[in-house]
Amino acid sequence: MSSTTTSSERVVIVGGAIMGSFGAWSLRKAGFAGSITVVEKDSTYQFSSTALSAASIRTQFGTPTNIQMSLFAAEMFRNIKAVFGDDVDIGYQEKGYLILGRHDQIAERMEAARMQRSHGADVRVLDPSELGERFPGIRFDDVGIGTFGLQHEGWFDAWSLLSAVRRAARQLDVRYTETAVTGFRTQGDRVTGVDLAGGDMLECDHCVLAAGALSGRLAASLGIALPVVPKKRTVFSFKTPFRLKNFPMLFDASGIWVRPEGEGYIGGIQPPDAMDIDADGDFEPHHDLMEEVFWPLLAHRIPAMEELRLNRAWAGHYEVNTLDHNGVVGAHDELRNLIFATGFSGHGVMHAPAVGRGVAELIVAGAFQSIDMTPLGWARIRSSTPLVESIVY
Ligand SMILES: Cc1cc2nc3c(=O)[nH]c(=O)nc-3n(C[C@H](O)[C@H](O)[C@H](O)COP(=O)(O)OP(=O)(O)OC[C@H]3O[C@@H](n4cnc5c(N)ncnc54)[C@H](O)[C@@H]3O)c2cc1C
Repeated sequence: MSSTTTSSERVVIVGGAIMGSFGAWSLRKAGFAGSITVVEKDSTYQFSSTALSAASIRTQFGTPTNIQMSLFAAEMFRNIKAVFGDDVDIGYQEKGYLILGRHDQIAERMEAARMQRSHGADVRVLDPSELGERFPGIRFDDVGIGTFGLQHEGWFDAWSLLSAVRRAARQLDVRYTETAVTGFRTQGDRVTGVDLAGGDMLECDHCVLAAGALSGRLAASLGIALPVVPKKRTVFSFKTPFRLKNFPMLFDASGIWVRPEGEGYIGGIQPPDAMDIDADGDFEPHHDLMEEVFWPLLAHRIPAMEELRLNRAWAGHYEVNTLDHNGVVGAHDELRNLIFATGFSGHGVMHAPAVGRGVAELIVAGAFQSIDMTPLGWARIRSSTPLVESIVY
């Protein structure tokens, strides 16, 4: 990549979880020679979406850019030791997503699978009898279609991935500082610095906004209407006697998802819209969803899971882009050195490696060089033109 940056340039990244850390590390890998400071308000990451996520990866998206980003990450996860060192293990298990559709969704799902395959995803369409043979114990009598990722889909350990990329970034002279960004300084069409809690100011030539579910609020302090808000999502961890070799990440047409985790399973469901208010610091799991919604739907799909023992539940925040459930990657049109890397609405861990590389390309070369993420850029937010992601969980 030909660099247009100099060693005196300064990048400040707001938010040091998976997006911010992949941005920082990728900048160094792309040859950025200036200073890189990641400002992270909580180095325990206890409330970050990254640490609380279900850490799964799929190629079954309705948006080609998302498919390309997942393929890039899957390749990296397969070769994680070569990327971050022999001691790194992110527990990547490529066991596929099985996405079930109703009878009235057959045509649309077949078309989605065709599009996904045309972009390099290895997705197989299965009818109910094929599903029954492949996944005994799961009910398919009311299912019209299943699509299954034969490759590049599964799950991993997000905390190990975050630890690996942070360590690698630090080794490449990225500085992490533990404090909160409280505001921004601007001059003309540029962000010139960020204000830090405690009163200091950090000057910058490029500012990357990677503050997860809080990105919308930070942008608002600049007068920018970035439609990214925190929405609470609960994960239930449970055990059941049901065992199926090669159980996939199952997305049911009812809205529930479930996958193996250790000796048991994790799963969840999005709350109904009326309950899905902006979360505002609330991390209390939606316990009522378990008894009243999740469990009955799960037992319907997998009757042997009627018998389950809940171990624990936790809640994290999706950084939901209310315009279209897609990430926002790229520079603002008026503050031209402000780069967004946020808004991934529940699929940001899997897309962070590609987003980090894209952000690095923008800063070092002035344009995307590998995956063209222009469709995810600020222009659609400005013009309120959604890039609708049809497969959202
Ligand atoms: C329950 C759940 C399940 C999920 N499942 C998946 C999944 O299976 N696969 C997937 O790919 N994604 C999943 N996601 C989404 C994924 O977790 C997020 O998209 C991703 O973690 C976003 O990363 P981030 O770095 O942008 O945000 P975060 O991880 O939230 O990090 C943002 C960081 O910014 C810091 N910060 C915020 N404000 C400031 C400030 N003012 N100053 C300094 N620092 C600040 C925060 O402390 C935080 O550490 C899930 C999310 C949840 C909640």
